[in-house]
Amino acid sequence: MKTALLKFNNWQVKARKVKVRPEQILVLSPRCLQYHKCPQPVTTDPHSCKFCGKCQVMDMVKLCDELGVQLCFATGGGVAVKRSRDPKIKAIVAVACAKELCMGIVMTLPKPVFAVKNIFNNGPCVDTGVSIENVRSAIESFIAEPN
Ligand code: SF4
Repeated sequence: MKTALLKFNNWQVKARKVKVRPEQILVLSPRCLQYHKCPQPVTTDPHSCKFCGKCQVMDMVKLCDELGVQLCFATGGGVAVKRSRDPKIKAIVAVACAKELCMGIVMTLPKPVFAVKNIFNNGPCVDTGVSIENVRSAIESFIAEPN
């Protein structure tokens, strides 16, 4: 049911054809993407990642820097909603489990939220993964072509 809702959400977000500048896009990522033994404070500053390759925080930082979008590793729903409601943010790519994505989409309405489900390689909430290609595709769908 949640998966169907997320598919419908992503379909209607694409249909809206929202196009914004890269800096107006926020990528919200769950903290559980970070390797559970890593001491780096990526929730405070994603660029504190040392790029050791033990988790996909590294890939997310590189991708968001390449595309010029904002990245936040949220410690909880409250932080995610606060960042999403920043008036400078016009479009959101959210990575999370289906339950969190459904809640986040509702709480950030009417902003467009492209949902990307994370992958449970080790069960829920620990050392999760994500398809970087899916995140890239979601970000690029929001980026306006230069004039
Ligand atoms: S890639 Fe970054 S966040 Fe992941 S374990 Fe290494 S230093 Fe920590």
